[in-house]
Amino acid sequence: MGGGRLSDRDARILWHPYTQHGLGAVPIPVVGASGAHLRLADGRTILDAISSWWVILHGHCHPDIAAAVADQAARLDQVIFAGHTHEPAVRLAEILAGAAQDASAAPSRVFYSDDGSTAVEVALKMAYQFHVNRGVATRRRFIALQGAYHGDTLGAMAVGEPDGFHRIFRPILPPVDFIPPGDAAALDLLLSRRPGQHAALIVEPLVQGAGGMRFYAPEFLREAESLCRAAGVLLICDEVFTGFYRTGRCFAFEHAGIRPDLVCLSKGLTGGILPLAATLATEEIFAAFLSDDRTRALMHGHSFAGNPIGCAAGIASWEILQSPECQDRIRAIGEHTARRIERLAEHPGGRAARSLGTIGAVDISGPPGYFSSLGPRVLEAALRRGVLLRPLGNVLYAVPPYCVTPADLDAIYDTMEEILDTFGSAG
Ligand code: PMP
Repeated sequence: MGGGRLSDRDARILWHPYTQHGLGAVPIPVVGASGAHLRLADGRTILDAISSWWVILHGHCHPDIAAAVADQAARLDQVIFAGHTHEPAVRLAEILAGAAQDASAAPSRVFYSDDGSTAVEVALKMAYQFHVNRGVATRRRFIALQGAYHGDTLGAMAVGEPDGFHRIFRPILPPVDFIPPGDAAALDLLLSRRPGQHAALIVEPLVQGAGGMRFYAPEFLREAESLCRAAGVLLICDEVFTGFYRTGRCFAFEHAGIRPDLVCLSKGLTGGILPLAATLATEEIFAAFLSDDRTRALMHGHSFAGNPIGCAAGIASWEILQSPECQDRIRAIGEHTARRIERLAEHPGGRAARSLGTIGAVDISGPPGYFSSLGPRVLEAALRRGVLLRPLGNVLYAVPPYCVTPADLDAIYDTMEEILDTFGSAG
């Protein structure tokens, strides 16, 4: 034990996420990271065009965040968050509530958990119990969008695309009603067919990330908000991917000018350096849990809820985000991305080139059935050019950290063009 090549030791003992180990792919050993780049064990350096699963906001090993983490780790590392509190948790909550309020005078009560999936689980449980605590036990269903992705735990899978990669679990998931994204008439019909049965509608605002970087129009969110409000159904915005300026605004729901009842945050919350999540709820929802009866409290709490080091990273990341230099970079990345996506729109090997803020995506065109083994080949072709791109099926996309230079962005989009040259089929 412990000897031999890293990949051999890994193969003997590890089980990787979203990996079919039977196909024999060998994970790439990474020894370091800095800014937008990962340093590999074989000496190569690659450009992290997907922010390491969309989490890294300012670049890897950002010195301000690393220093905040080291400082906090030496003072207060972890403390049970039931019955205790601390400055980093309160300060970060003030920041998040302030940001949400700036956006829409909306949710201002912050509940911490660990990752995107738990932020979603908490929102679903809050929504259901909100109604129960107000004496309505019939709102047992959720509404979600086809093509959605909200995480891998049971509740989060339940509100994800029913025919997608979680299909095998459908028989053990609670029932959910799905509507096509962008279709307010379908929502209207559903609400009138099942009056009083829904606790909440959950959406990824404007961009369905893992479902293939699918975009829909902000008008739908406005219509959905008013339909839900009229029907007494809560609106949950899952900003786990879209939050913290990925779409150009702090939260994607700002593009629509809506006021969600619950907001889920994670990924970039700490700048991507540590796992942490927050579910923001309105004071109205929080008030429904206030009582002298303990059973009306939210029975939910993770060991690492409000972890001080994660919160310290979140505060440091927010300070960087708010600096004029960072805001300028986010704007510049958006403009650069829009220009390169316009060019990709002309490419005969691509379809539906699209961008919003710092997110750019294009579908590789080809005959049906062609795409099943495409992912690993595209990944390899991009790596040969020194860029980490990990397509979602036939969808090529970039979600870069905000430290990328114009030259980095050109390298990313040049690589996408080459991939369309190689793998896309015209017509
Ligand atoms: N919601 C959305 C919109 C996501 O994109 C993701 C992760 N890709 C999640 C929830 C789940 O987050 P996590 O992987 O941190 O559990």
